[in-house]
Amino acid sequence: GDDELNIATSPLRSFVPSHTASKWSDTTSYVAKKMIQSWFQLPNGNWELGKILSTSGTESVISLSEGKVLKVNPDSLLPANPNILDGVDDLMQLSYLNEPSVLYNLQFRYNQDMIYTKAGPVLVAINPFKEVPLYGTDYIEAYKCKSIESPHVYAITDTAIREMIRDEVNQSIIISGESGAGKTETAKIAMQYLAALGGGSGIENEILKTNPILEAFGNAKTLRNDNSSRFGKLIEIHFSETGKISGAQIQTFLLEKSRVVQCAEGERSYHIFYQLCAGAPPPLKEKLNLKSANEYKYLKQSNCNSIAGVDDAERFHIIVGALDIVHVSKEDQESVFAMLAAVLGLGNVSFTVIDNENHVEPVTDEGLTNVAKLIGCNIGELKLALSTRNMRVGNDNIVQKLTLSQAIDTRDALAKSIYSCLFDWLVEQINKSLAVGKRRTGRSISILDIYGFESFDRNSFEQFCINYANERLQQHFNRHLFKLEQEEYIQDGIDWAKVDFEDNQDCLNLFEKKPLGLLSLLDEESTFPNGTDLTFANKLKQHLNSNSCFRGERDKAFTICHYAGEVMYDTTGFLEKNRDLLHLDSIQLLSSCTCQLPQIFASSMLMQSEKPVAGALFKSGRAESQKLSVATKFKGQLFQLIQRLENTTPHFIRCIKPNNLQSPGIYEQGLVLQQLRCCGVLEVVRISRSGFPTRMSHQKFARRYGFLLLDHVASQDPLSVSVAILHQFNILPEMYQVGYTKLFFRTGQIGVLEDTRNHTL
Ligand code: ADP
Ligand code: MG
Repeated sequence: GDDELNIATSPLRSFVPSHTASKWSDTTSYVAKKMIQSWFQLPNGNWELGKILSTSGTESVISLSEGKVLKVNPDSLLPANPNILDGVDDLMQLSYLNEPSVLYNLQFRYNQDMIYTKAGPVLVAINPFKEVPLYGTDYIEAYKCKSIESPHVYAITDTAIREMIRDEVNQSIIISGESGAGKTETAKIAMQYLAALGGGSGIENEILKTNPILEAFGNAKTLRNDNSSRFGKLIEIHFSETGKISGAQIQTFLLEKSRVVQCAEGERSYHIFYQLCAGAPPPLKEKLNLKSANEYKYLKQSNCNSIAGVDDAERFHIIVGALDIVHVSKEDQESVFAMLAAVLGLGNVSFTVIDNENHVEPVTDEGLTNVAKLIGCNIGELKLALSTRNMRVGNDNIVQKLTLSQAIDTRDALAKSIYSCLFDWLVEQINKSLAVGKRRTGRSISILDIYGFESFDRNSFEQFCINYANERLQQHFNRHLFKLEQEEYIQDGIDWAKVDFEDNQDCLNLFEKKPLGLLSLLDEESTFPNGTDLTFANKLKQHLNSNSCFRGERDKAFTICHYAGEVMYDTTGFLEKNRDLLHLDSIQLLSSCTCQLPQIFASSMLMQSEKPVAGALFKSGRAESQKLSVATKFKGQLFQLIQRLENTTPHFIRCIKPNNLQSPGIYEQGLVLQQLRCCGVLEVVRISRSGFPTRMSHQKFARRYGFLLLDHVASQDPLSVSVAILHQFNILPEMYQVGYTKLFFRTGQIGVLEDTRNHTL
């Protein structure tokens, strides 16, 4: 019976060895007598459900599965929820909100293919790594007419559409999560729903077709994900006043260029290379002098040419079809493929030593001739660009010959540059095609699919930028769900106990402070002629060691304490990657070439060159003569992104990867927990549970529901009308608060009003 449970005197506290754990343990008061089920943490970190048999002082006796009985410290137990709450579809409904209860609830649902769960306003999506029967026309229809209520990407997207129309405010769907967690798939599912509801003009099909194209050119197989996006993407979908899709615009962020020339064992370069090699029809193959993938050094170096279950040749035909649909002409397509072949060809260019100072010259073979032909330049010019460097010293022009490693770097820089120009050009073409309604009078919904937080054994400049972006986005998330929420309550004078949250402002300051922040110091060192990765690392240690988010490490390394955990960065290559210079010789080569896509290079050359390139410069009219560093350009893009997002109502989806094997049915508690902690899911639930997420100004409320009033109200001021409505509908006093300007409601309270209104209208 209940009497053997006598643990009321021992406060239940988590003993998870984590700095965040204690504040996540539940503070809700409960009647201990009734609590017969408890969570106990096993030495491996997993939680197991047990039944408390007795408790006295510092010892509890708990029976676990398979007849195990243990004596444990009551402090090591956490209350479990009653079985009736198993698998609730919103974590807010849990009576006990602690880590094991959340983990268990998500797992309970996951085991039944219910991969979506709400955490207050946030949708949690756990990657099923298999097809789940949750999508398609029938489901879309069901969510549209609200005959299904369970959490889903469709439901979130539906809310976004409705709020866009109702509030006349642009919306955003912000998808985050680790690599392989399912962000890109989730974005596509959201787009599917938008296309189904807002379709009609045909443009929606074009929008959907941008996915396979961008994935072919911007995704690659990595060890974490066979289809890993190597760029960030924001797609803004425009709607006309009648709620139909009228166009779209895509912005991409920071494509991982280095992958073109180098990738780790078992990974691949961008899909399109393999697709082209496998799928090009014979005439094209012949024209481009195309070989098979394993004959190209850039592709064969990682010993991985294929992906299980993927037919590259077939994909190639899909891409061609998609390019047709977004109006990339056949001629342009051929030029795109020629550029790809040129990039691959460059990788095969080899060098011979020509003097006793180890200077080299490219070997003039069929491959080199072919590259020159493909990019449309003179072979002599190509050879010069790959083996010499023109430098201005004072007024003199000095020609410096290159050593082998310099020549290889130059060759690779050229290949990377051609590829990234090609990528940007393609996005531009897609945008032209999608910009149907030039006059944007309507509203928009933006979907953000951006690389999640990364922490590897070895972290370089790419991780540095990616994690910086995640800090910014995390702050946006915090601002919306915590800060703004609380500020709004306080401003409106309602009763509100603050919930603490992990603020990451300090870490952002570490990056952005001027002149002594990571980004400023990186730029400064990048412009010093004698700056090296080592001098950069030393400068960081010298100036930032007192910062609590920073720690200098041995050699050229440093550690940043991110909101999601500590990451150690190796500065090797930082300066070079940040400068991202293409030497003037290569620039001149590319701007002189007669390839079929002159626009490809024209616009990007402006960014690349240190000195303005004649001709190209004047096309845009606002070229900068000084090239921005990669980090600074990225920071600018991020600020712009956040600004755009700030003008929208955000909807957040947190994707979770349940295992590192990309396999269905495996749910690793530790891995899931770490991701939940990273993105503050529990804090969000806590704040929402004790908060008032729905709010409306007195005026709006009175206007929206006033006509439902049955009795005459003496005073017609909005507040009196509002209060009368609340009374008529029997909304309980603890379910709302009346602020100075707004009414605040707990979750779900406004539903009955909306329903009545919809039935009455
Ligand atoms: P991310 O963009 O976060 O790196 P992806 O969206 O590419 O991850 O997902 C990785 C893989 O996981 C996909 O290629 C797919 O196999 C699987 N996956 C993700 N979401 C789903 C889903 N909703 N249903 C089925 N499989 C999924
Ligand atoms: Mg992705």
